[in-house]
Amino acid sequence: MLQPAFSHGENTLRTDNILLVDDEAGIRTVLSISLADRGYTVHTAENAAEALKMIEAVHPAITLTDIKMPGMDGIKLLRTIKDRYPDMEVIMLTGHGDMDLAIDSLKFQATDFITKPISDVALTVALQRAGERIEMRRQLAAYTENLEHLVEKKSRQLIEAERLAAVGETVAGLSHTIKNITSGLDGGMFVLEKGIEREDADYLKQGWELVRGNVDRIKTLSLDLLNFAKTDRLEYRLVDPAQPAREVFDLMRSRAEDHGMELVLDIATGPAPVHMDPVGIHQCLLNLITNAIDACEETEPVDTGQRITLSVGRSTDGSVCYRVADTCCGMDEGTKARLFQRFFTTKGVRGTGIGLMLTRAIVHRHGGIIDVTSQPGKGSCFTIILPDQ
Ligand code: ADP
Ligand code: MG
Repeated sequence: MLQPAFSHGENTLRTDNILLVDDEAGIRTVLSISLADRGYTVHTAENAAEALKMIEAVHPAITLTDIKMPGMDGIKLLRTIKDRYPDMEVIMLTGHGDMDLAIDSLKFQATDFITKPISDVALTVALQRAGERIEMRRQLAAYTENLEHLVEKKSRQLIEAERLAAVGETVAGLSHTIKNITSGLDGGMFVLEKGIEREDADYLKQGWELVRGNVDRIKTLSLDLLNFAKTDRLEYRLVDPAQPAREVFDLMRSRAEDHGMELVLDIATGPAPVHMDPVGIHQCLLNLITNAIDACEETEPVDTGQRITLSVGRSTDGSVCYRVADTCCGMDEGTKARLFQRFFTTKGVRGTGIGLMLTRAIVHRHGGIIDVTSQPGKGSCFTIILPDQ
């Protein structure tokens, strides 16, 4: 019937151990015999201080204590025990006149009280009650532990399933892009072969353009993928937030001009540095500018007066704001809604649909947000806000 041990937190209470605390030697002797008969290993103490030391040593699951004792009384002992070992069962032994104290003790979570002289029946009932409470607690602990295991196992399965689904989607998207590039290369090679066969310079030129375009796409795709893989390894440094904007501006200005667009840099930040991964933010701004240049190329009729503005600002709460605004084709609601989805592109075979997904992942990793406003035919404006961290 007795469980060998019952664990609670760091303390393991031994259900076969019982502690008897009474200042009267006669009661200790008689009760010890009766308790030992019931299968318990009995430990005794003649006052509260000794009892607390004994508890430290033997960790009994049940303590039987007299209420009236010299020094610390039974109620105080009960409160100390419940404070240190909330799971220990404490049965109070009371004299005839101690009814008020006995009832008090129940308020302080005593298991039961037995009036002296102690009858066998009363002792049996009190011990049974203590035993039931211990068993209930043990079952509850086991149940909770099982439940925790179950929840952990189910969560792990769910995460695994989600991960597999994401990998599946990624592979499907990539296969599609790679298939497109391969058909592009096939087409280019076909035209090249014809050109060689017929020694036709026009065919050769066209074929070569096709091959070169698709090799460019492979380069973009593998760069995007590499950068994407890097988003979980950002390296934060204290940098001037204008630095990545200047770099991207220097890098892209002539490319924009080549396409007949003006790229404008507008820096309105103080010199105070912020924590960020400058390479990651550089990548984000580069993606936004590249998209804006692409968008200007799409703009019909081709208008050479397009302008792209890259601005950096700082709000009073210290957050940094990057903005890339263009006066190009803009986008409709459908495109706006799907913009950040993996592999979403409206550029047909020229796009990978990775740029904005990557940009958003980097911004989120910085604890920031990215937002877009756009009007078809008028232009788009992407805003990145990074908190000061
Ligand atoms: P990709 O550039 O390879 O298409 P992105 O994730 O960078 O992939 O962009 C997804 C889509 O968002 C683009 O195909 C385009 O339709 C739209 N888009 C992004 N930026 C702009 C912009 N400045 N103007 C209009 N459309 C844009
Ligand atoms: Mg892009």
